[in-house]
Amino acid sequence: MSILITNIKQLLQVRKNNTTIVVGKDMKTLPLIENAYIYIENDTIIEYGSMEDYDVIEAETIIDATDKIVLPSWCDSHTHTVYAGDRTSEFVDRINGLSYAEIANNGGGILNSAKLLQETSEEELFEQSMKRVNELIAMGTGAIEIKTGYGLTVEAELKMLRVIKRIKQECLAKIIPTLLAAHAIPDQYRSNKSDYIKLITEQLIPEASKLNIAQYIDVFCEDGYFSVEETAAILNAGKTYNLQPKIHVNQFNILGGVSIGVEHNALSVDHLEELNSEDIDALKNSDTIPVALPGCSYFLSIPYTPARALIDAGLPLAIATDYNPGSAPSGNMNFIVSAACVKLKMTPEEAINAATINGAYAMGISNMYGSITRGKKANLIITRSLKHYREIPYAFAHNPVEQIIINGQLL
Ligand SMILES: [Zn+2]
Repeated sequence: MSILITNIKQLLQVRKNNTTIVVGKDMKTLPLIENAYIYIENDTIIEYGSMEDYDVIEAETIIDATDKIVLPSWCDSHTHTVYAGDRTSEFVDRINGLSYAEIANNGGGILNSAKLLQETSEEELFEQSMKRVNELIAMGTGAIEIKTGYGLTVEAELKMLRVIKRIKQECLAKIIPTLLAAHAIPDQYRSNKSDYIKLITEQLIPEASKLNIAQYIDVFCEDGYFSVEETAAILNAGKTYNLQPKIHVNQFNILGGVSIGVEHNALSVDHLEELNSEDIDALKNSDTIPVALPGCSYFLSIPYTPARALIDAGLPLAIATDYNPGSAPSGNMNFIVSAACVKLKMTPEEAINAATINGAYAMGISNMYGSITRGKKANLIITRSLKHYREIPYAFAHNPVEQIIINGQLL
């Protein structure tokens, strides 16, 4: 199987060396080739360059991309794509004035999703989730992190992991599984939270690791969920089983979760709608990447992550959808790239870097995904006719994607 794409108006995110992350002011640069070609064999990027230097290459499929832009597929490093049903009734409750916290206190929120998931068969959960994954792929996403966390029992969490494993086996997109061991406190543990944490550290994590699926461990470090001390205890338990942290912090309150993440060598700290200078200092000189989730801020009408403060401090930043039924029911990365420009004041170049190479870094896969580099996986977006790549974020909520190549296959 070989594909040749010629006459590409702009070939974006071309990195000769195997760049794995782009930080600070370097995020303003998006390397590209105007009037370019790219050649793919099986699942691998083999060759690319300017049409001026093009020598005839034979390929089974040839695509003329005149007036079109080609870029690496989006890398969505934070999703909760496996869930059951939806939470449209809570959406209406919020329109009518209830806050996210009030809905959660009334038995809605994550507990509502957990109840639905526990009652849903593994087969049905797979069917619903696989359909969503295929929708994400069609919108240009080629690598997706998927978290558990709607189980809230050992059995239901293991069911989620098995579903994620099956998605990983059956779809062409790269799937990165994360054990969101501590997402919320089930009702029956409200008055004895320490017993629930014991269940997580002594049963769930060991049982989950036996399945040998999850690569990362996540905790929702937030008031009313898990404290900094509890987060540390759960991350330590995960470390015993080689699960690296990727954690939810600073969504509504600053508890000190960012520095706890950094101390535990977290790959990423996600949300950061609330952020102070200590958090920024903690991230400097670390390998931990901050991740902004503007779709969640949009949907809940909460503050946006201060991306400028992070990038201007010389830090890297990734952006992701947080696709989930409660706080971000859209997995459209095209919208996220646009929201990053409009609401986070990122330039189109910064937003595209954050959604490709840095998103791949936040999943630990940027050696193989997230840029146009010889030897990397052939996951590409071919846009509709566009004058310039800046139209991708500019024409918000429009779909720039015309064709997808994923794992070397044209869809
Ligand atoms: Zn999340």
